[in-house]
Amino acid sequence: MKLHELTIAEARQLLLDKKISSVELTRAFLDRIDAFDDRIGAYITVDEGPALEQARQADDAISKGEASVLTGIPLALKDLLCTKGVKTTCGSEILDNFVPLYDGTAVAKLKAGGAILLGKTNLDEFGMGSSTENSSYKVTTNPWNPNHVPGGSSGGSAAAVSAQFCCGSLGTDTGGSIRQPASHCGVVGLKPTYGRVSRFGLVSYASSLDQIGPITRDVTDAALLLNVIVGNDPMDSTSAREAVPDFTRALAQFDREGLKGMTAGIPKEYLSQEGLDPEVRQVFDSARNVFEDLGVEMKEISLPHTDYVVAAYYIIAPCEASSNLARFDGVKYGYRDFSSDDLIRMYKQTKSKGFGPEVQRRIIIGTYSLSAGYYDAYYGRASKVRTLIMKDFATAFQGCDFILSPVAPAPAFKIGENSDDPLTMYLSDIFTLSANMAGIPGMSVPAGFSSQGLPIGVQLMGKRFDEFSVLKAGYGLEQTVVLLEKKFPIL
Ligand code: GLN
Repeated sequence: MKLHELTIAEARQLLLDKKISSVELTRAFLDRIDAFDDRIGAYITVDEGPALEQARQADDAISKGEASVLTGIPLALKDLLCTKGVKTTCGSEILDNFVPLYDGTAVAKLKAGGAILLGKTNLDEFGMGSSTENSSYKVTTNPWNPNHVPGGSSGGSAAAVSAQFCCGSLGTDTGGSIRQPASHCGVVGLKPTYGRVSRFGLVSYASSLDQIGPITRDVTDAALLLNVIVGNDPMDSTSAREAVPDFTRALAQFDREGLKGMTAGIPKEYLSQEGLDPEVRQVFDSARNVFEDLGVEMKEISLPHTDYVVAAYYIIAPCEASSNLARFDGVKYGYRDFSSDDLIRMYKQTKSKGFGPEVQRRIIIGTYSLSAGYYDAYYGRASKVRTLIMKDFATAFQGCDFILSPVAPAPAFKIGENSDDPLTMYLSDIFTLSANMAGIPGMSVPAGFSSQGLPIGVQLMGKRFDEFSVLKAGYGLEQTVVLLEKKFPIL
């Protein structure tokens, strides 16, 4: 097997057995990025020198018998995560020159686990988008077909894993940005329960919805990375104190006892959505059959407020964004427009030139919805709808262990196809937004391909803090279905 095809688990074993070195492995990814990333555009920053230096140190540690859980494993991080000494742009011109003085908690945990940081991946500006076309730097293409988007906003991270430019990566998910690009790129993406992973050092988009999570080649690697990044953090007051299991035990549990005794909920409102592509439906049905064959009981459930999810999310997320992004004013961070001679004009010019059109649209929607006189009608009402969505899930989970659904209504669309149509773009988030609104975990697992050869995933959602069941069921699906399919795009 080629070095760049290795999963985290496989690479780790070979490193520990001293069959390969971390320098070789890191070099293999750097060479591949060098050869192909001008076509894919997965990375904004490649940190070659420091990555090789970290790899040398990792080899040293391994030879002394001091390896930690990720020692020597090269990873990529979405460029929304603060990395000490490494530029963190958030895909925005306004942070073009921002070099953080600290690592975010998840990043620090990966480093403490011995991981190598290859670089920072492309994204929709501040995480706002579903296609990675809203980056100020470049458009990322789908490794399976360069005319199609990789999904977004963590499109760079998903494309980097799929194109084998890293062993695994972290993305962030506010309304689907880990799961949807993972589905479009044929890799695994896990959004943990809200609060499971500290948000400290994650540049905020919508603080009550944002979560960091793994994007990996398989479910085993998702469990491995999740194990490293979870846990309570005094630096994030919303981070949970919940006990943390060893998530890799979920996989062992599948190997031992299968999925018999589990019940999957099938939300009827999801499958009756008009606009659900027949090929997505087909892949969904085949995944459902796999679960049935594995002895999982299927149960139709209802999530009655599904029709209001998109509208409520696209009020709440912009409201929080308009507040979070107020700090980027040309004074405290990043880009400043020097052409204005008074303060107000400087603010206006800085924001007009520093933020792209989608971010400006969200700031305007958010500011409007929060303004006196409109707050109750928009933000207040959207928050009430959010409570109803949470209740829908609480009721549904009384009768099932996980919910099975499509990830996106259609396979990856063509680059440019929806860029002038924000509403269509927003509507394509219908199946992923509710997990963030309800704070529950959700994972996208590759489950098939469209007739055009584009990957299609299915989503498994779990009860709050029950990533364990999601991983166990997702692993069961992966063992049964994905191994029969082609695994890598040809670059
Ligand atoms: N597509 C959604 C949005 O634009 C979700 C993005 C995300 O999860 N960061 O807001």
